[in-house]
Amino acid sequence: MSKILQKSFETESFSREEAMEILNIPDEYLPQLLDIVYSIRKKYKGNSVGIQILTNARSGNCSQNCAYCAQSRDSDADINKYRLVPYEKLLHDGYTAHDNNLSRHCIGLSGIRFNDNEINRFAEYVKNLKKEVDTHICCSIGFLTLQQAQILKDAGVNRINHNLNTSRSFYTSICTTHTYDERISNIKMLQSVGFEICCGGIIGLGESRTDIVDMLFEIRDINPQSVPINFLIPLKGTALADADISHLSPEYCLKILCLARLLLPKSDIRCAAGREVYLKGKEKLMFYAVDSIFASGYLTAGGQSIEDTIRLVTDAGFEYRIESA
Ligand code: SF4
Repeated sequence: MSKILQKSFETESFSREEAMEILNIPDEYLPQLLDIVYSIRKKYKGNSVGIQILTNARSGNCSQNCAYCAQSRDSDADINKYRLVPYEKLLHDGYTAHDNNLSRHCIGLSGIRFNDNEINRFAEYVKNLKKEVDTHICCSIGFLTLQQAQILKDAGVNRINHNLNTSRSFYTSICTTHTYDERISNIKMLQSVGFEICCGGIIGLGESRTDIVDMLFEIRDINPQSVPINFLIPLKGTALADADISHLSPEYCLKILCLARLLLPKSDIRCAAGREVYLKGKEKLMFYAVDSIFASGYLTAGGQSIEDTIRLVTDAGFEYRIESA
């Protein structure tokens, strides 16, 4: 353990083998690991927790075959499908974020590529939203051209989410309609335009522990401002509806969150989808590692209300963070 503490202040020297040791730590040592990780979290993030809400601005009808996704072309999941939400819905959610002093308003759009008209229309939405509500905006919006990225930057988008989801070697097991390298080059282009990056993954896709370590090392190379760690919620109608998630114990999930903090000590580490399912009863412990969570559900799955999420943070002895745009 003391070796981990020493290493955690020199993140460059963490090897894959040492990262794997952390995932394999016996559960009885988890309290010690959490204490060590908390000292890192406290150093870089204090005691604050950012709370975000998510608007699904475009839903369903995606051409891609991501196995976990209810919006994929191969999914029969019973979800609402629409091209673009009315502006009033975005504005309503923007005010919800602002009036509850939440840290960010995240906006997800299904699909992998957008034509220029679609980008221009969405950029107008963002411009108007930024004029009315003083909130950080983060978008999840597939692959962009350089020009489209610049349009969204000029419109006021602060951060873009583009996840790697899993390791390079496991990627073709969950998606074959685009490549891992396309994801990485899209992220590099977004960084060149000056966007903050949110880049994380999903646990429970059938990956091995080595895949988790490999994914986190790929993410570390990207050095994103924010790292969302999702735990799969198998949705009826998706290819992973019957995924084996029996190994996702609270202890295992917490070790993954700890490893993310140790490898990316300065980034926001977000416990995203699945916290309500897999950490039940032990959710407060996640704050030893994470400084960011969602409230009010996910793209196609429900979640904890804003009020209950704020209570969870404050009852755990943490403060929720307000970031003005
Ligand atoms: S994750 Fe994104 S790209 Fe993949 S199927 Fe879902 S909406 Fe499409």
